[in-house]
Amino acid sequence: MARIASLCVYCGSSDRGDARHRDAAAALGRAAAERGIGIVFGGGHVGLMGVVADAALAAGGEVIGIIPEHLQDRELGHGGLTRLEVVDSMHSRKARMCALADAFCILPGGLGTLDETFEIVTWKQLRLHDKPVVVLNRDGFWDPLLALVAHQVAEGYVRPEHADFFLVAETVEGVFEALAAAPEPSTPERPGRL
Ligand code: AMP
Repeated sequence: MARIASLCVYCGSSDRGDARHRDAAAALGRAAAERGIGIVFGGGHVGLMGVVADAALAAGGEVIGIIPEHLQDRELGHGGLTRLEVVDSMHSRKARMCALADAFCILPGGLGTLDETFEIVTWKQLRLHDKPVVVLNRDGFWDPLLALVAHQVAEGYVRPEHADFFLVAETVEGVFEALAAAPEPSTPERPGRL
């Protein structure tokens, strides 16, 4: 079973989402802290990103943010983190988030969240890492995404075993159950290829 000390969270930067998503984001941050699992995230203090970080910190958890220099103002670089790393580009941000994390969790979000989700899954498809990726499908938010991937499998563009990279949990508790059940990564990381 995979040993998870650090969980990378991809989620929305918008504050206009459903209050239930904020509750789920806070619950995830708290639950990670209670389990001694550190959070890695985009480093902003906006939207669900800020909610996860604040909740984890309030529960005594470790939170590391990775933010590109040019987004520090727009995403309000979080001032109270365990560590805020400022990087030079979006690509550096994603590579660094991947390097620091043992697993990934997808919360509701927008286009940036989709970008991050597909990048981490395609990196796994290319065997650049073999870490678990869990989608928190609270209230069916990600049903359209999962339906799209199922459609791609049915049409022959995605291998069924690659679609299985999306572990799906309905609850925060389920996220940690999925992580606990995930196998130990079988491929070595290849950071030089990211
Ligand atoms: P969104 O889901 O659009 O609210 O974005 C969530 C996070 O993804 C924000 O921190 C964005 O800055 C980030 N993001 C958006 N596009 C990219 C990208 N191409 N690479 C890395 N992060 C991104």
